[in-house]
Amino acid sequence: MNILILGSGGREHTLAWKLKQSPKCGQLFIAPGNAGTAEIGANLDIAVEDFDGIKQAALQHNIEMVIVGPEVPLVQGIHDFILEDKELQHIPVIGPRKYAATLEGSKQFAKEFMYRHGIPTAAYQSFKAGELEAGQAFLETLNPPYVLKADGLAAGKGVLILDDLQQAKDELQAMLIDSKFGEASRTVVIEEFLSGIELSCFVLTDGNDYKVFPMAKDYKRIGKGDTGLNTGGMGAVSPVPFADKEFEARIHDRIVKPTVEGLKKDGIPYMGFIFIGLIKVGDDPKVIEYNVRLGDPETEVVLPRVKNDLVDLFQALAENRLGEIELDIDPRAATTVMMVSGGYPGSYEKKKEISGLNDIKDAIPFHAGTTVEQGAVVTNGGRVLALTAYGENFLDALKVSYREAAKISFDGAYFRDDIGFDLN
Ligand code: ATP
Repeated sequence: MNILILGSGGREHTLAWKLKQSPKCGQLFIAPGNAGTAEIGANLDIAVEDFDGIKQAALQHNIEMVIVGPEVPLVQGIHDFILEDKELQHIPVIGPRKYAATLEGSKQFAKEFMYRHGIPTAAYQSFKAGELEAGQAFLETLNPPYVLKADGLAAGKGVLILDDLQQAKDELQAMLIDSKFGEASRTVVIEEFLSGIELSCFVLTDGNDYKVFPMAKDYKRIGKGDTGLNTGGMGAVSPVPFADKEFEARIHDRIVKPTVEGLKKDGIPYMGFIFIGLIKVGDDPKVIEYNVRLGDPETEVVLPRVKNDLVDLFQALAENRLGEIELDIDPRAATTVMMVSGGYPGSYEKKKEISGLNDIKDAIPFHAGTTVEQGAVVTNGGRVLALTAYGENFLDALKVSYREAAKISFDGAYFRDDIGFDLN
């Protein structure tokens, strides 16, 4: 089977690595890919939003399955585009259709969905531009910190958590009136602040059957002890030590099951991953957000623990046979440590030569922002490489991730040395 993966990050390299292990995987294409995916398959110089380019590539390379990594093409309707095109509609797409992708594309839509189906989440109200005063009055009824969320996609930057009431009111005005996040903040969701520890849950579903993948926890902030600016993610671990059987059962009964059943009740077809961002408040799981694709860097620790043939799994999904499959999970822990460019998540320089990749023996170096220039692997983004390792527990695995990360160097390289610090 010839497969096309859309995307260029560590998540897509991990998908490519896992798919290529299947005897059923024929030619593998990644658009646009990175230096890591180029070693496994063929990179295509096509942007994930270039639907016509994707169509040409799918026809030219006899693509038989499309797997969508990032959210943007899903929210823009790549699945519908393929489904509505006579020449492409036979190709299964792993990733939901545009309407279902609104679960990630609109936070208000997601909150309404959760409320409708009794899925635990933070209390909220949402406000549009004409409702600034009502929004500010609502803020006055809340206790700090104040959580303000741009409704639409804002590349992970559209959430503000503020301690000061006046600042929260000013930011609400900036979002609603001055379009701080453009179109994305035409509507703002104001939420109750939830205090707890976060974790991620991936569910693969055809809208009927579903499989819950191992839990993972990522580390979003740039600085030690989870301080400083938010990033795309600086590392991850799986499983999550505090998510014991009982807690997992609560996640399943109160969140996963009602989510899939909610989609069905609402008549929303679904095909692909739902990534549920969770927070443990006391002993109770609550939903922070839905994403309609795999998370990055959680993918780099979750997929390496899945022993099943991923082509089989995706084929079963596409043919509504997911119920026939049992997930086979590696009992070992997996961890990943993300190496990033100096200055990230602020401005940083690219095209720094990366050395030491050939010395990596005990970890899997998943590439994120890398490319090949004149035969050398160079940096090409903020997040550069994720070093994934296995161990009997997360501490053992982390030792290997760190030992191997120390072998990699590029000008300005930085990584957090305290992934998992809050799990002991
Ligand atoms: P990302 O794409 O980075 O996951 P996002 O922009 O889609 O984020 P959310 O996941 O909703 O936005 O929020 C980002 C982060 O803000 C969360 O991971 C969490 O740490 C924090 N957060 C969001 N909502 C709340 C809340 N109600 N209470 C406490 N913290 C929150």
